[in-house]
Amino acid sequence: MKFEELPLANPLQRAIRAVGYETPTPIQEQSIPSLLEGKDLLGIAQTGTGKTAAFALPILQKLLESGNHRAPKTCRALVLLPTRELAIQVEDCFKAYAQFTAISTACIFGGVNDTPQKRNLIRGVDILVATPGRLLDLIGQKAVTLRKLEFFVLDEADRMLDMGFIHDIRKVVAMLPPVRQNLFFSATMPDDITKLAATILQANPVRVEVTPQSTPIERIHQELYRIDKRRKGALLKELLLAHPEMQKVLVFSRTKHGADKIVRVLEKAGITCAAIHGNKSQNRRQEALGNFKCEQIRVLVATDIAARGIDVDDVSHVFNYDLPDVPETFVHRIGRTARAGKGGVAISFCAPDEEQDLRAIEKLTKLHLPEGDKAIYEKLPPPQKETAESEARNNRGRLPKRSTEEVRSDWKKQKSGGQSRGPKNGQPSRLEAQLPPNAQPSRGPQPQAQLLLQNGQNQTQNARHHHKRRNRPGSRARRRMREGKENT
Ligand code: AMP
Repeated sequence: MKFEELPLANPLQRAIRAVGYETPTPIQEQSIPSLLEGKDLLGIAQTGTGKTAAFALPILQKLLESGNHRAPKTCRALVLLPTRELAIQVEDCFKAYAQFTAISTACIFGGVNDTPQKRNLIRGVDILVATPGRLLDLIGQKAVTLRKLEFFVLDEADRMLDMGFIHDIRKVVAMLPPVRQNLFFSATMPDDITKLAATILQANPVRVEVTPQSTPIERIHQELYRIDKRRKGALLKELLLAHPEMQKVLVFSRTKHGADKIVRVLEKAGITCAAIHGNKSQNRRQEALGNFKCEQIRVLVATDIAARGIDVDDVSHVFNYDLPDVPETFVHRIGRTARAGKGGVAISFCAPDEEQDLRAIEKLTKLHLPEGDKAIYEKLPPPQKETAESEARNNRGRLPKRSTEEVRSDWKKQKSGGQSRGPKNGQPSRLEAQLPPNAQPSRGPQPQAQLLLQNGQNQTQNARHHHKRRNRPGSRARRRMREGKENT
């Protein structure tokens, strides 16, 4: 089947050509005709199957046909998604498919100022893509109402439930007008999702189930480097410096802490890169992803969770900086490269304590990962000595928890005047020892002590506390105000 055979209006056919689609994917082929007939749809499909166009194109077609107009502070179609990244991605698709029409779109999500979002809704919008929390918030503020809704799409339903959105979804559904067309998408259909779907869809919806076109693993060139975990950063850096053809590189780190560490190593070597993980603000994550997509940066370092659902085309190389402990994750990661019939390369680093993970991956994929160019090891500097702290961190990058007893005894020592981290047995601390002989140890940091603090040397708890207090934003301003008052 070709797109031209589908009864889609000219501006949509033009947009399809402009985005470069030729033939509909299986989910598009199965869904678009039924949706154009006005039927409800239950789609069991995940990102990568082309499901966005499967629901966006028929919705746009029906909006164009209906001849209705948007009223102020209303929307005609609502697409609910669990995360900001997905919401932006889906709105981008709608914009691309509607580029030759007058159909308007808006995207609302939490974690940012709501004023521009409210402004976009004042005149009403045809397509509203939203995350549940911000939508309810703006409905509560009377910035938008769902009274005039014609189409409701719940996408990534299983993830929504995993993320605890069930109550928000129920609240939204309760506000929908009774006559509407519903589309419900989920990658999996456990019982609770089936029950939720039944509360949203009309009886006997069209059911479409597709599995994503898996990237043929044989098309991905694999390389394995057996390397001590302390030398992984240096190895990654050397490989990137030695191979300029590695242009769009996705690096998977097991931990957020690890991802930040990799970025520091690469930035030091002048390699443009950024990290996305749960500790980064939404804005920073979006910025990093945008820069990676348009190749402003060469390397994107991600944790598996942050990378979920993110769609980036043309990734040339995937690095498994840390091997995943779930072998299916390996397949999912390397599937980011070699898309759309192209080739791709997956490079995996295996530390001695990851041999078991490697065996599990080779068993699942029925592959033997061949070792990469061993000459590269000679270019690496000798392993750096672990600091006490990095040695203490486990492979998730976390410091071991201290027992309650340890915490309590430290606290008691501090309270009774004994300093567990400061001077011992009446000896001056190293910080005090470095002060000039006439300097009186004081509660606040002396100028020289401040310098030492900046250098990260030997901070006594007391000094650190005062340093923080004095540098609180506002405290200086308050002092100035006080001084100003006193002067007048
Ligand atoms: P989705 O599952 O909607 O996130 O789509 C995954 C990727 O497939 C996106 O990059 C789409 O642009 C692309 N895509 C969707 N439909 C088609 C199609 N019919 N032909 C080629 N690429 C497509």
